[in-house]
Amino acid sequence: MPQTTRFAPSPTGYLHLGHALAAVTAARAADGGRFLLRLEDIDPARCRPDYAAAIAPDLAWLGLQWETPVRVQSAHLADYAACLAGLRARGLLYACFCTRAEIAREIATSAAAPHGPDGPLYPGTCRSLTEAAQAARIASGVPYAWRLHMARAVAAVPGGLTFHEAGQGEIACTPAIFGDVVLGRKDVPASYHLCVTHDDALQGVTLVTRGVDLQPATHLHRLLQALHRWPAPRYAHHRLLTGPDGKRLAKRDVAATLRDLRAQGVTPAEVYARL
Ligand code: GLU
Repeated sequence: MPQTTRFAPSPTGYLHLGHALAAVTAARAADGGRFLLRLEDIDPARCRPDYAAAIAPDLAWLGLQWETPVRVQSAHLADYAACLAGLRARGLLYACFCTRAEIAREIATSAAAPHGPDGPLYPGTCRSLTEAAQAARIASGVPYAWRLHMARAVAAVPGGLTFHEAGQGEIACTPAIFGDVVLGRKDVPASYHLCVTHDDALQGVTLVTRGVDLQPATHLHRLLQALHRWPAPRYAHHRLLTGPDGKRLAKRDVAATLRDLRAQGVTPAEVYARL
């Protein structure tokens, strides 16, 4: 059935074989529908224009075609800030002034330090600051992030959430595994989880295909979709490619970048065979 799918790389390195698998999977899953490319480049410290510029030629070399214009997230930070403002107005976010070191120290000294998919859960240090205390610290110029008040967010969406995973059916969501996750970072008023769900809804994505490493994030994504009354796409998480050592391919495995393979004379057909 025709679907709207997307390939949403972050330009933090050159595309490698793992990205090729993700891109080809998404393009094929469109099944004659729409295939979108989206640059998830909100992280100013890790994303680079030269990596971003290399994406289209690499995908074109693989014979892929996508709709234009390509959505470039860094050009839409106001959209994500508006979402944050909406959640804030509903009392679902709070400002967090903790540094990484402070959080680590707090976790090290606490008896129970539960872990979520992204690491240890935030211990909640800033959760109980009053509005006035938050406002005063913000006014004093201390950097802060916006965290989701998970308990309130879950309570705001009565009835259990599920997501549809291809081949598995409906899976019950447990967003609380993320704890009070950051939705607005200190450096940019946005975050991966917020931007990806906002954009999938905005762009009418009906089927999200991505690596199985991101399947846990779907529990949180469904919560964000429900809080915003965004439609729920279906999900199809795919296997990850592994290197000769059995470990997943990463950007550091430069030998496997598409541009290097191309330079070595490898053909797209050979890349498809490896996928
Ligand atoms: N930008 C994410 C990444 O490169 C993928 C996001 C997604 O497919 O949901 O890992």
